[in-house]
Amino acid sequence: MGERFQFPLKQHIGAPSVPVVEAGAPVSRGQLIAAKPAGGLGANLYSSVSGTVAEVSADQITICAAEEQPKDYVKLQGEDPLKLIEEAGLVGLGGAGFPTYAKLTAPAVQGGTVLVNAAECEPILGHNIAAIEKNPEQLVRGLRIVMDILHAKEGVIAIKEIHKEAVERLRAVLGENMRIHLLQNIYPMGEERAVVREVLGVLLSVNSLPSEAGAVVLNAETVCRIQEAVDLKKPLIDKNLTVAGKLKGNENLIQIFEDVPIGRSVGKLFEAAGGLAGEYGELVMGGPFTGKRTSLEAPVVKTTGGLIATECFMKGPEKIGLLVCACSADEARMRQLAESLGSEVVGVEFCKQAAQVKAAHKCENPGKCPGQVQKIMALKKAGAQAVLVGNCTDCSNTVMSCAPKLGLPVYHSTDAALRAVNHPLVRRIKE
Ligand code: SF4
Repeated sequence: MGERFQFPLKQHIGAPSVPVVEAGAPVSRGQLIAAKPAGGLGANLYSSVSGTVAEVSADQITICAAEEQPKDYVKLQGEDPLKLIEEAGLVGLGGAGFPTYAKLTAPAVQGGTVLVNAAECEPILGHNIAAIEKNPEQLVRGLRIVMDILHAKEGVIAIKEIHKEAVERLRAVLGENMRIHLLQNIYPMGEERAVVREVLGVLLSVNSLPSEAGAVVLNAETVCRIQEAVDLKKPLIDKNLTVAGKLKGNENLIQIFEDVPIGRSVGKLFEAAGGLAGEYGELVMGGPFTGKRTSLEAPVVKTTGGLIATECFMKGPEKIGLLVCACSADEARMRQLAESLGSEVVGVEFCKQAAQVKAAHKCENPGKCPGQVQKIMALKKAGAQAVLVGNCTDCSNTVMSCAPKLGLPVYHSTDAALRAVNHPLVRRIKE
């Protein structure tokens, strides 16, 4: 039997895609298998492989892939760039999954600034920077397409200053009215409103969108896939990603995979990376800060950027307090990590700047610490013997200046992932 590919019908913000194929039907790579619902926010979904539809359920389509796979694909129809972006099923590939055409049709962004988010802010992940180093022209061409659609006055690529080679390569191919903005190497410089603040000097409220600053922010891979949709008529069927962690061999603990067919299982990716090395703590889909626990059977989806097999969890204290950040693990994820440490949660505090917005939290000023001493003291008062924090770099620094003095050891939500690749832990950054 051929490899099975799973395509969840909701891989984006908006309504689930509606299946247009039935079980038993033959499909080709690049063929539409589920359509954006008429009139609503959503995205088309295409098969990344040629094969046969094995099952259509309420929430996903499963395709059994043929042994021989074509490199080519069924091409999109039409010439209008915006329509091609919509048809391609493009969504924010940095993790947000917001349909790209909807961002580009907001009236407020006409004539404004296009910001390419190339921060690759999560530690370990490296596929965006690798793609830029390999083919900077593609990103610049994608940016030009978006600028033309929006009649934008400027295009800015926001990238961390540490990525010197990528910056140099981009500088060599930048077009008219384009520039690079260098970001500090701290987390979360890649948060959408942080990018707007750093590049345009506008601090948006938690309820505001970049369009209120006359800007649209697009992840670097999204911009590259826009180039493919418009110039090559290629639907969104492949994804770049980073596979890392406890991999066999202990030499190549962080690996970049280009053009992975969407729908392939997590297990197949770890196999392709050389296989898992014995015991691990958990499998994470996404980056160390914002990723979620996954399984070997789960599929790579449009928003998958990283797959990490973490180090085994340390034994935590009996009682632990949680300090939850808006730009990192949410409370449910923090509780999951506390359980993995074997600790009982005796208190939960949120960073002062973590404002509740609907069911989630958003940071009022991402990455600028408002002070954490009171929160740490409250957790100590609740009976915590240690704290588990998910804070940004700056706030983790502040936590480190007070928690140990109060006799509270500090654990960070990213520890097990970072240990797996021998990356420095998120702790104190200044003396
Ligand atoms: S200031 Fe607080 S909420 Fe904002 S990024 Fe830092 S820890 Fe998270």
